[in-house]
Amino acid sequence: MPVNKNPRPPRSRQISSLLFLLGAVLLTINIFLPIQRTPRTPYSMFIHQVQEHKVVKASVGQNEIRYQIKNELGEPSVVYSTTPIFDLKLPDLLEANGVEFAAPPPPQNQWIGNLLSWVIPPLIFIAVWRFFLARGGGPQGALSIGKSKAKVYVEDEATKITFEDVAGVEEAKTELVEIVDFLKTPKRFTDIGAKIPKGVLLVGPPGTGKTLLAKAVAGEAGVPFFSISGSEFIEMFVGVGSSRVRDLFEQAQKQAPCIVFIDELDAIGKSRASGGFYGGNDEREQTLNQLLTEMDGFSAGENTIIVLAATNRPETLDQALLRPGRFDRQVLVDRPDLKGREAILKIHSQEVKLGDNVDLHVIATRTPGFAGADLANLVNEAALLAARNNRQAIIQADFAEAIERVVAGLEKKSRVLNDKEKEIVAYHEVGHAMVGALMEDSGQVEKISIIPRGMAALGYTLQLPTEDRFLRSADELKGQIATLLGGRSAEEVVFGSITTGAANDLQRATEVAEQMVTTYGMSEVLGPLAYDKGQQSSFLENGMPNARRNMSEETARAIDAEVKSLVEAAHDQALGILRSNRDLLESIAQQLLKEEVIEGNLLREMLAQVKPLESVA
Ligand code: ADP
Ligand code: MG
Ligand code: ZN
Repeated sequence: MPVNKNPRPPRSRQISSLLFLLGAVLLTINIFLPIQRTPRTPYSMFIHQVQEHKVVKASVGQNEIRYQIKNELGEPSVVYSTTPIFDLKLPDLLEANGVEFAAPPPPQNQWIGNLLSWVIPPLIFIAVWRFFLARGGGPQGALSIGKSKAKVYVEDEATKITFEDVAGVEEAKTELVEIVDFLKTPKRFTDIGAKIPKGVLLVGPPGTGKTLLAKAVAGEAGVPFFSISGSEFIEMFVGVGSSRVRDLFEQAQKQAPCIVFIDELDAIGKSRASGGFYGGNDEREQTLNQLLTEMDGFSAGENTIIVLAATNRPETLDQALLRPGRFDRQVLVDRPDLKGREAILKIHSQEVKLGDNVDLHVIATRTPGFAGADLANLVNEAALLAARNNRQAIIQADFAEAIERVVAGLEKKSRVLNDKEKEIVAYHEVGHAMVGALMEDSGQVEKISIIPRGMAALGYTLQLPTEDRFLRSADELKGQIATLLGGRSAEEVVFGSITTGAANDLQRATEVAEQMVTTYGMSEVLGPLAYDKGQQSSFLENGMPNARRNMSEETARAIDAEVKSLVEAAHDQALGILRSNRDLLESIAQQLLKEEVIEGNLLREMLAQVKPLESVA
């Protein structure tokens, strides 16, 4: 749990509030006092009054002249004051007009006023300052800008996270067990002269358990754990980030051995060369430089600080961060495989009540591509569904529905399609399903639905792979393209026109085709060459397309032509299948319009009737 490390004695806080109050009162008095002073007149009027013999006596000070005038009866009455102008002839004038005058008496007790005017303002300032400082213990304190916002987690048996809580990332775990050993018994390593790594970078897609792993390392090693997110270093003010880094490492040094965990390292660690389009990188650059300095600064000895960091965009990191002595160890935390998913499900289902019929293995087979966080979310969704249905325990069907929810976003029944749109969506989805049913190894079509879900999908066809696949053949990829084009082809066959609903399908189909040609060397025309610059790591599926190598214009043109012909061939194939199964397309679509969802055995029986192209031709 976060521990506030800036405890300020409440006493000093009281004192400072008191001073603050006192200052405020004195200030108020000072402002309002002059109002009670004598009425002022302009200097010219004073002279005038002197010349008219109205003035009885005057007390001439450097900054003020107070004088008393006579009333109609010639008796001394009202006292006025005026601000003098430097006038050497004034005494003569007063003398000539019979005014009794003198210098003012030395001010009584003025030293108190003087003292107050000198002492109070600084006191007020100090009071205000301390006041904010006392509040500044929290993260949003006005004067705490430069302080690092790191939270310190001190282990505590009840909430301690250990490696037991992390599953499906065995390789990463093995690497990190070593780090724990370093922290526990550094002597064992330093005695042989081995260097303890300073920085370990956890790399992997979001939700795969990087943060969790870092906490587990701290939990296992039993050392303090400073956690801060890279984005928290970056502020509007240049220089703040670097002072935060300095502060963080100062604190860590005091508590060593300990772990400093910087989440989302890419927020500060972006390559300095890459610039970035929003300009003004000074702040990030300074912060990064400070981090590099700090990492170079501490020596790996008895008082070890190990810096763990996490990122899902390692390719954007500045090279300087990855040099030896910094984050020279990189640990890949990838999405879990089948066995890993089952193990993660097991961990998270310990917190919920499972019915007897729940088979976590089956659920794991149905969730390829899910990261740890998705699986945790899935278990929770299933529990919510069970609770909503007033069940005592979660049943398998809850999981089945939860998978769909997690995959496609929550059901949005409120989004109503008009009848024409619904019809188009129905044919479109059946088109996907029918073409998909004929393609080899493309996974089983489990469900077609025209209930809109999530943001993008109007309807959807759920195709579940029967197993995790790491290798795909060219034929399979062609099948995938044809399946993706099945939706649009159905629209063409039935309505003779196309809608905008297929945009995403086309996008994906084109991507697959392009990868076949440029990445996998699957084109006969272009041969087994990789035309892109190295495949990015597998987990960057959603990243940017790879840059292409330098190539001649003809090659570029040939690639485009090849991609186009792949997509067109698949399109023709899909059109052919749907044309030759026109009646079946009609009957399944009508059924779908009636039921909104077709799934399971019924769907499989229907799709089994799709005739392949060859037998028709
Ligand atoms: P990341 O930092 O990689 O984005 P997190 O560590 O924040 O992911 O994971 C979020 C949550 O998902 C964790 O708190 C945990 O409940 C769950 N989770 C993620 N990966 C795993 C895993 N490998 N094993 C168990 N739970 C996991
Ligand atoms: Mg994280
Ligand atoms: Zn589609």
